[in-house]
Amino acid sequence: MNVKLGIPRGMLYFDYHILWQEFFNNLGVEVLISPKTNKDILDRGIKSCVDEACLPVKVFHGHVDYLKDKVDYIFIPKFISIYKREYCCPKHLGLPDMVKHSIKTLPQIIDTKINLRKSDKNVKRIVQDIGKNFEKRPTKIYAAFKDAYEKYNRYNSIITSGVIPLNVVGRYDDLSFIKNIKTKNYGRKILLLGHTYNIYDQYINMDVVSKLKKSKFDVITTEMIEEQTCRNFASDLSKRMFWTHGQIIIGAAFSLIEERSIYGIIYVSAFGCGLDSVLIDLIERKAKEKRIPFTLLTIDEQTGEAGINTRIEAFIDMLEWRNNNEDNISTYG
Ligand code: SF4
Repeated sequence: MNVKLGIPRGMLYFDYHILWQEFFNNLGVEVLISPKTNKDILDRGIKSCVDEACLPVKVFHGHVDYLKDKVDYIFIPKFISIYKREYCCPKHLGLPDMVKHSIKTLPQIIDTKINLRKSDKNVKRIVQDIGKNFEKRPTKIYAAFKDAYEKYNRYNSIITSGVIPLNVVGRYDDLSFIKNIKTKNYGRKILLLGHTYNIYDQYINMDVVSKLKKSKFDVITTEMIEEQTCRNFASDLSKRMFWTHGQIIIGAAFSLIEERSIYGIIYVSAFGCGLDSVLIDLIERKAKEKRIPFTLLTIDEQTGEAGINTRIEAFIDMLEWRNNNEDNISTYG
């Protein structure tokens, strides 16, 4: 019987799920991904995680709790750095330890350190460290990774291009959501900003994409902009942003603000997120300077859908009014 490995559908799963899925499959491991976030998963997360944690971390705990009795291993890498001279949020670093302390009777946790701060040469060591749990031959492990990495890169260019073939969507559940983002062209774009786990988890953001599409707006997300473009625009900051996700979110926002190709910006942020508090301030200032409307949706486990609907409706009304009556000139400009 195959070894079964659980991957929680939370946090950086949304960035790397294809890489992980393909890598483990190539090693002959049966992968079980927890279901999309739902009320049961959120409740499990709230019950097991410390109160002070941000919503995505709580939700992640819920996914682990769902998987814990169904698999032999759970994959929770310890993300320290994914880019030279940059860091991830400390919550990513502490995630496996938080989970181990909060949830009892866990299967074996694969919590390999991902630290590319000094050099990406560490990738080989990281890959071997993860793969050795399932395969003894290092060459086989590396070949499994190489193949997975090629597919992952293909997936990234597919997202940026927005043309996602049906067979690819069928294989990777979460791509169907991205495909839905880009199917129509209403000729008026809203930039939806935030961490991938806040943007692509439809349960925790109360399906903000569908709400915008219903109002006939196109949605663009950070992942649809080339990483190098984001980095070039983020370099406008007077001090280098040392959080990788901050670089990308800021750069995406700055590039579209400068291009003036968007009607407005909606930032989805988890309550109490330290990183977002810096990003939101910088992006809001830039948006004001260039007269692009900006609004913030803060989410936590208490957030009600009615409140989110009201904020989105008010924002859209303002955009429509501005477009129809003010020749797209802001009321404060
Ligand atoms: S960046 Fe913010 S939302 Fe993400 S894990 Fe850190 S504190 Fe939570």
